[in-house]
Amino acid sequence: MAMRALQGKTYFIRTFGCQMNLHDAERVSGELDACGCLSVSDPAEADIVVFMTCCVREAADQRLYGQCNSCKSLPAPPSGKRVVAVGGCIAQRDGEGLLVNVDNVNVIFGTHAIAHVSELIEAAFEDDERHILTAEDASGSATAMPWHRATSYHAWVPIMTGCNNFCSYCIVPYVRGREKSRTFEEIVDEVTGLARIGVREVTLLGQNVNSYGRDRYGAPRFAELLRAVGETGVERIRFTSSHPKDLLPETIAAMAEVPAVMPHLHLAVQSGSTRILHEMNRRYTREDYLSLVHQVRERIPEIALTTDIIVGFPGETEEDFLETLSLAREVGYAQAFTFIYSRREGTPAARIPDDTPREVILDRFDRLVSVIEDTAFAFNQVELGRRVPVLVEGTSKKNPHMLQGKSPKNQTVHAPLPEGASLDDYLGRIVDIDVDTARTWYLSGSLASDPR
Ligand code: SF4
Repeated sequence: MAMRALQGKTYFIRTFGCQMNLHDAERVSGELDACGCLSVSDPAEADIVVFMTCCVREAADQRLYGQCNSCKSLPAPPSGKRVVAVGGCIAQRDGEGLLVNVDNVNVIFGTHAIAHVSELIEAAFEDDERHILTAEDASGSATAMPWHRATSYHAWVPIMTGCNNFCSYCIVPYVRGREKSRTFEEIVDEVTGLARIGVREVTLLGQNVNSYGRDRYGAPRFAELLRAVGETGVERIRFTSSHPKDLLPETIAAMAEVPAVMPHLHLAVQSGSTRILHEMNRRYTREDYLSLVHQVRERIPEIALTTDIIVGFPGETEEDFLETLSLAREVGYAQAFTFIYSRREGTPAARIPDDTPREVILDRFDRLVSVIEDTAFAFNQVELGRRVPVLVEGTSKKNPHMLQGKSPKNQTVHAPLPEGASLDDYLGRIVDIDVDTARTWYLSGSLASDPR
């Protein structure tokens, strides 16, 4: 660890992309804290500026270039020299090639090189060379690093990295490598330790948590892991992401039977058309997906199902799209992340010709969003008049006197902060809220218990 050389330096981290990146950023932050660095909220005050990048969508590349370039016009930092470091998926994918688009980057560290971030940054302060590490076998374990959690009540717990699925549109397996599971014991010990220090909720993270353990133990052990984590004393367990082709009956049973596993499943469907699913190399059909939904609802009738959907995959016809719309209605999603297909160089889908006009794709996107708004609204209506336990995460962005938190089904819930009370009395604690309003994207009501 580069302790002395970085002591007292200020750092700023900006993160793009998924939860895995957020967690990687927590590790980088933890490592810099351990070196004696101080976090600041303004890049102008930072000796070290770190960008944690995502390359799932093309717009992310342009944003990164813009952010790096904007560092050039910042005032000189406290130490006189500013080191700009780029980590995450774009760093892994482009390595030195990133310098073609941005010329003021001192450190490039790939997704396998997080454990080396402080050494690379220290070296960059000492000379004017570029320090680049993107080797897939970069030694050191990121999961053994200290990390700085954004909150004291929630923790991301990576259970595996990488992905073996090679969906035809996705760059992730090329930049995060193949599936690599942590040991069962290491994960359970980590969650036990988190529960002991007061963490109320953990989110188990992986690109495809359902295949957890397959690489290490020869067969998936995710259901067993859920049961073991459920014994640690942590009150709320969530997980993401979950590939439909690997969701096993024993996992559904564990979700139904372990009280701490929250009644929410993010099950990315991507398309409702079997033909497009085949082109996407998703390895399930529309019927397979609907049958899974049926099995999950049979065990957990009120579960919140959320999903990811891509609109405008190359060759998608109106008929294919209508199948997506009807599937979304049939499932009744509580929420969906909807994306317009983004062509990623190097993926098989990038070679599929497509002449669908942009306006047609945009129109489909709007129609899908409108269906999801309807299903989300309907999903929330069942909570009217109910008492819901909510983990308080802060206050509403629009109103500092309105508490905001999450229900077990991951719905955002608001309730007024009592007169004279402070957010600190509630933050990271669970309160009951009597729901009297149910909108498309949130519930609201009144406090019905003290925080616990
Ligand atoms: S499951 Fe498919 S979409 Fe998800 S990370 Fe793996 S390749 Fe990408």
